[in-house]
Amino acid sequence: MRTAESGWRREALEARSDAQRALWDRAESTRKAVFGRRVFVRGVIEVGNFCRQNCAYCGMRRDNGALRRFRLARDAVRRVIGEGLPASVTDLNFQAGEDPVVLREVVLPVIEELANESRLGISACLGTFDLRLYDELKQAGARGYILKIETGDAAHYRLLRCPGTLERRLEAIRYLAQTGWSVSSGWIHGLPEETPDRAAETLDLLCSLPLAGCSVSPFIPGEGTPLSGAQAADLERTLNAVAILRLSSPHWVIPAVSALNLCHASGYVRALRAGANLATINLTPSAWRDDYPLYRPGRWIMTEERVLRAIEEAGSEPSPDSWIAVSSSLRSSVSPLSSRGSIPASSVGDVATDRQESSEGRAS
Ligand code: SAM
Ligand code: SF4
Repeated sequence: MRTAESGWRREALEARSDAQRALWDRAESTRKAVFGRRVFVRGVIEVGNFCRQNCAYCGMRRDNGALRRFRLARDAVRRVIGEGLPASVTDLNFQAGEDPVVLREVVLPVIEELANESRLGISACLGTFDLRLYDELKQAGARGYILKIETGDAAHYRLLRCPGTLERRLEAIRYLAQTGWSVSSGWIHGLPEETPDRAAETLDLLCSLPLAGCSVSPFIPGEGTPLSGAQAADLERTLNAVAILRLSSPHWVIPAVSALNLCHASGYVRALRAGANLATINLTPSAWRDDYPLYRPGRWIMTEERVLRAIEEAGSEPSPDSWIAVSSSLRSSVSPLSSRGSIPASSVGDVATDRQESSEGRAS
């Protein structure tokens, strides 16, 4: 059913020229009203590329026999962290194919050690698992989980062979939120067979979930996948979707994703100007980066230098605080009665105060 909410989102996706500029300006002002000029900087370590799933769009799908599979040794992960993270990094994310082995043997023990030693905000993006495994990760010290729905239409989800079922993915998201995680989800915009109805439905579903953040990634046809010959997503619509998410949920942490730079050299900076407020530095050891084909070999690697330059070009500055710390204080200050989860004006000052206090105990 088309509601007023999905109506404006559907129209805004198509905005161009003056309407597009106005949309982004509103999104940027909204972001600044909640977060000021600050953009969160997290590091990501891609700890393995084994995957039991077979998503049609992803180069790590289990049927891609051409891929050299790896799992990082715990010591290799410890070295990345121990040799000194870039000074701007306040959060660390562990990402992998859906692989219970890497979760148990690498991620869990490393998070356990890390949580005892540092104040980094720790998050994971590992896939859909038995809910008890999420409890174990939380017990170890992780606080953020990234679980994207990819598309909000169950038939489309099945067609693209996304992990398990949409229902199960949603159940996991709700469970994580109920058990105190900061949950971020996301959408791959422009997947084959996406229609305007499916796009609007996906945005509506995302905006109804108990999330702390959400991303929009443009679909990039991946090598070694059944969709390698498909058309890539349209950058302008992807950026409009970033602005729509910001306006729909002002308190969300919305990443600028590196795939935007595969669409256009300015894609990343433009996302930061359209309402995004999180940038990710890739910390995967260089020997393994090419084996993590997100989105294809020769992917655009975001180094600290590139991330800081993009933040500066967007007229912003790196946040001294972890997105997880800030988003949990925001969640607790968002009134359940406020429309579309927007931030009541009175809570914005509280968040700024929390931010100043926690910046004294920043990540080591
Ligand atoms: N396996 C975990 C999962 O699927 O949740 C985490 C790792 S997976 C590589 C991280 C994300 O990559 C997926 O959620 C999906 O949105 C994104 N991705 C994979 N292939 C993509 C493509 N061709 N274009 C855009 N995004 C893609
Ligand atoms: Fe596996 Fe995630 Fe890629 Fe799907 S998107 S094939 S679950 S790594």
